[in-house]
Amino acid sequence: MALTGIQILKMLPKKNCGECSIPTCLAFAMKVAAGQAEIDTCPYVSDEAKATIGEASAPPIRTVKIGAGDAEFTAGGETCLFRHEKRFEHPTGIAILVSTNEDDAEVEGKLKRFRDMEFERVGVLMRANLVAIKDTSGDPAKMSSLVGKVQEMAPKAAIILMSDNTDVLKAGAEACGDNKPLLYGATADNWEAFADLAKETGCVLGVKGANLDDLVEVSGKLVDSGLKDMVIDTGARTLRAAFEDNIVARRSAIKERFKPLGFPTITFPCEMTDDLMMEAMIASVLMAKYAGIIVLSDIQGDILFPLLLEQLNIFTDPQRPMVVQEDIYPITGPDENSPVLITCNFSLTYFIVSGEIEGSKVPSWLLIKDTEGLSVLTAWAAGKFGADLIAQFVNKSGIADKVKHHELIIPGYLATIKGELEEELPDWTITIGPREAGHLPAFLKEWQPA
Ligand code: SF4
Repeated sequence: MALTGIQILKMLPKKNCGECSIPTCLAFAMKVAAGQAEIDTCPYVSDEAKATIGEASAPPIRTVKIGAGDAEFTAGGETCLFRHEKRFEHPTGIAILVSTNEDDAEVEGKLKRFRDMEFERVGVLMRANLVAIKDTSGDPAKMSSLVGKVQEMAPKAAIILMSDNTDVLKAGAEACGDNKPLLYGATADNWEAFADLAKETGCVLGVKGANLDDLVEVSGKLVDSGLKDMVIDTGARTLRAAFEDNIVARRSAIKERFKPLGFPTITFPCEMTDDLMMEAMIASVLMAKYAGIIVLSDIQGDILFPLLLEQLNIFTDPQRPMVVQEDIYPITGPDENSPVLITCNFSLTYFIVSGEIEGSKVPSWLLIKDTEGLSVLTAWAAGKFGADLIAQFVNKSGIADKVKHHELIIPGYLATIKGELEEELPDWTITIGPREAGHLPAFLKEWQPA
């Protein structure tokens, strides 16, 4: 049961010293209760209180980390059922499957695609995260060798080792070194040996049930044995079953604080169909409904990019628009004769507009005004992108010292404020730019200072 701020306050030393970067113990307690501060940041709280509060304030879906350094992947930490209630914390991991019975060319092709497919969108670098290595031979040496190949060809991959043989998993884990893998999958028949291996190696354990009930029984035993870091698989191998199980697991963990299901899930679209496009469609549904990791048989650009876009949409904080900093952005080396454009600081707008300017090959100054992440028209309607505020920003930005001309190009959607802006900025000529960013290259190529 989660503790209230007042219950947490009772366990704090009440020095009101501010060493936790929050001025008072009461404010700190409230933040801990809301999941916005870690109890560990108070250096004076007792170990006993730390354990009690830490346990009570931990997210109902445990946060687990797989791998290290560039390859580190985090799953879980979720606290809500619906994105708009707060936010989803950690994006669904996308994994590709390789196995010890695949030939070298096949494996290398997959790993090359994994390594090379990175996409940048609104300043975020997006890529697949994990490689699942499946043992089909029971031979520890083959597993070690394949781990070596994955580490060499895809060094940013967190690794999932899949086998029902603990010797194979142990050999694979040793070959992974510090890049600690997920060990998959403990079942009702072998969970004790798998738990011992997970504890010995310090790895996260993947637990697989024949169905949801079976999973609850096995993961419950593992929880009771003291194992903390797990990823769970309900055994569902149809879209409908996996979809339903994911929802039941999330609801049980969030609403009932049901510990055996309080872990990120792993799902296997690669075992639900032979068609790669259908795998991606299944993955897209499961990503929307709580999958912690989805395992695909392979990736191609037309499979991965849409999934990454979906991931970006679902896991962006809905209460905090993605923004860029208010500033003057020089694009492709502008000088004193280059055009000056202004727009809002909504990330998507910035990246689209700056991309079009770059594509036009017309060196330009782009002024980004802080509109609290709102898009042009929304910001204008909210009173955050009006003529008075734009004029204040232009005057303080220092752009007048960087150009000989005084001509400001405003977004086409702000055409109605042209007159007002001319009154606010009497030394500037205001030009109405295109409404759509896609028309900027043609506009800029024609542009001459007024
Ligand atoms: Fe209170 Fe601890 Fe924060 Fe000091 S560091 S204000 S004692 S919670």
